[in-house]
Amino acid sequence: MEAVPGELVLAVDLGGTKISTALVSPQYRVVARDYQLTLAAEGPQPVVARLIAAIERILADHSISPTQLHGISIAAAGAIDRERGLITLSPNLPGWHDIALREIVSARFGVGTFLINDAKAAALGEHRLGAGQGVDNLIVVTVGTGIGGGIIINGSLYYGTSGSAGEIGHMTIDVNGPKCACGNTGCWEMLASGAAMTREAVRRIGLGENSLLNEMVKGRLTDITGEKIEAAARRGDPLAQQIVARTAQYLGVGLVNLVNIFSPGMITVGGGLAKMGDLLLEPARRLMRERAFHQASSVVRIVPAQLGPEAGVLGAAVFARESDR
Ligand SMILES: [Zn+2]
Repeated sequence: MEAVPGELVLAVDLGGTKISTALVSPQYRVVARDYQLTLAAEGPQPVVARLIAAIERILADHSISPTQLHGISIAAAGAIDRERGLITLSPNLPGWHDIALREIVSARFGVGTFLINDAKAAALGEHRLGAGQGVDNLIVVTVGTGIGGGIIINGSLYYGTSGSAGEIGHMTIDVNGPKCACGNTGCWEMLASGAAMTREAVRRIGLGENSLLNEMVKGRLTDITGEKIEAAARRGDPLAQQIVARTAQYLGVGLVNLVNIFSPGMITVGGGLAKMGDLLLEPARRLMRERAFHQASSVVRIVPAQLGPEAGVLGAAVFARESDR
């Protein structure tokens, strides 16, 4: 192990699908990593047990005792009570209500433990280590199954009065749009996410429209994914192209709102859907430039995020190092 003991952060990214653990050096190099499935449907207790076992395993594999760590930092997919270190609620972790994860982990391992929302961690990581370095006002958009976000204002993460600021995926784009799990309708993530894209493809093919996609999944519409829609669009399939164009348009509409409200210097777009690159990003950018206030749109750069799937653990490590407690 190259890093000096006592300086590593053990970072955890607790998502709805997997739990990633990593040992992160003071230079923010990931010196070890491990993954396991969350199996979130089993509820909080088994998931917390798996998370603790994952921490124990990575420590044991690298012969590190908890007291040698700078701390343990958890980026979690859910709403966080920063004062009390609770996960108050999570759409991706069924059954989680006011779970005192910070206390549970710090009591178990006897080290300083930090807890931050995963999208905010990704924003912090992208600002300190990724595409957003040196940008005073930055918005980090993560487009995957849903849409997550983090807002950096004057170099600091913006939490808002309640601590929940940055839920950009739930800005209303269409008041009459599809119902969202958050209770609202027509949220940005219901229209511009990976899930929105596959839902629209399934709906239209289900109505009898022709598409290469139907052939690609041999009629099993539940097998349609964002990657398959992208592949079909690149092969010239009109339906897939229309769906990509529609998604890009909705993505652009959300960007217009963000640019008009915040006038950021940069918006990074990451997450699974962002892998489509300019097929998605360029029309979204164009729409933003057409519709947003010129003063703001002329100075904002819309760029791909740089940190990729490690944004959560890297951001969690940054959070631990920059926090007092
Ligand atoms: Zn919503």
